[in-house]
Amino acid sequence: MEYEPVIGLEIHAQLLTDSKIFCGCSTKFGAAPNSNTCPVCLGMPGVLPVMNKSVVEFTMKMALATNCRINPVNRFARKNYFYPDLPKGYQISQYAYPLAEAGYVDVEVNGDKKRIGITRIHMEEDAGKLVHDERSPSSYVDLNRACVPLIEIVSEPDMRTAEEAAAYLRRLHEILVYLEICDGNMEEGSFRCDANVSLRPIGQAEFGTRAELKNMNSFRNVQRALEYEISRQQYVLESGGAVLQETRLWDDSEGVTHSMRGKEEAHDYRYFPDPDLVPIVISEEWIGEIAKTIPELPLEKRERFVREYDIPPYDAGVLTATRALADYYEETVKCSGMPKGASNWVMGDVLGHLKEDKLDITSSPVKPKDLGAMITLIEDDTISGTIAKEVFGEMWKTGNPPGKIIEEKGLTQISDSGALESTIDDVLKANPDQVGQYKSGKEKLFGYLVGQTMKATQGKANPKLVNEILKKKLSAL
Ligand code: ADP
Ligand code: MG
Ligand code: ZN
Repeated sequence: MEYEPVIGLEIHAQLLTDSKIFCGCSTKFGAAPNSNTCPVCLGMPGVLPVMNKSVVEFTMKMALATNCRINPVNRFARKNYFYPDLPKGYQISQYAYPLAEAGYVDVEVNGDKKRIGITRIHMEEDAGKLVHDERSPSSYVDLNRACVPLIEIVSEPDMRTAEEAAAYLRRLHEILVYLEICDGNMEEGSFRCDANVSLRPIGQAEFGTRAELKNMNSFRNVQRALEYEISRQQYVLESGGAVLQETRLWDDSEGVTHSMRGKEEAHDYRYFPDPDLVPIVISEEWIGEIAKTIPELPLEKRERFVREYDIPPYDAGVLTATRALADYYEETVKCSGMPKGASNWVMGDVLGHLKEDKLDITSSPVKPKDLGAMITLIEDDTISGTIAKEVFGEMWKTGNPPGKIIEEKGLTQISDSGALESTIDDVLKANPDQVGQYKSGKEKLFGYLVGQTMKATQGKANPKLVNEILKKKLSAL
């Protein structure tokens, strides 16, 4: 029997607000344990939560960017469970009335476009963190993360391969980062993913029993965990067994998933509306205001770059990886008028140098204005492509504009044919053997003679002109 995987993802994204969702404590990562806490996030009795308006607005942005419907009234519920990192004994989340529902994003896998449905997006608070002491049988609780705002984005079970799931995850990640509502850091846990996967015989309408996978902290691991789990479930089914509804943990070093616990059902949590928080009412006007703040999103930007600048989709993908990089590229185009040239320089030398120096595009020592000016100087034959590499290296080191470097180092291209003719005469005189061989049919030696001329001018000769003059002189011999 042939099986088909069915995959749905639950994504938790930590929102980049300055303060927590129901109190004024800071959300800063890495502070001393329990220093960012107050009676509200410590879960003391008798205190009342107060909603952070920015959390609602950030969530509205994500809802609009993923084509969701925003519910005019939404409210919080208590999700009850016991765990030492949850001082209140319940998590404030949204259940029956989430902020947003029924959206979608489009992803592309191997050239095929696919629409993945989004069931809902809701707001909730994060829990604290347990720190286990390896030398003694004790554990510590750090509540800095308690009450930090999260959104949960639940997908429809629309994905059929691990690759599709990874593409969807990447799409949501880039949207969150473009909106500047989440830093997207998977290692620090500000962007986390639980993956639900089941198999069903091809042709069967009902879904099979699913396992929920946790503990994958990179895109690659989400894909690997799903691939492993799909083959594990296939083996279970083929050997006549049944897949259990359970939560499984991904083990990165072993490359397998291990059963962690049976999966609880929603009714186990005894959800009920939180009496301490009023419902959130969202007007059309408010939605309109937030809609105005949504920037151009990565997919739209990619398509526009291909259309407007006539660059390959691959280039557009690289150049729109972040908003800052896309802005840098567009500014360079504006300052040079050369979209393809700008794309080559940004993707090649700029990204290469940034990587080498472990820098971010926003701190590039070469500014778009100067890179644009340099590209213009190549285009109008002031400098050759080879010299430009040297000029760029200097710009990177000094932050100086290209004109200044070219002047100081005397790097202007020799486009004066008089000067080149005499250099070429010297080259021909110095290489009689090669000239002879060329004349007797070894045309490859033409390149050698061009190279010798470039060398004689320290790379400053205009290559087009060198070619022309050399051809003329050789045929006259
Ligand atoms: P929870 O895991 O908290 O109970 P849900 O019931 O909302 O949450 O489902 C979580 C995710 O599991 C959703 O993304 C949904 O698409 C996916 N899902 C539900 N049923 C299946 C299934 N049989 N196989 C694979 N994924 C599923
Ligand atoms: Mg779940
Ligand atoms: Zn607090």
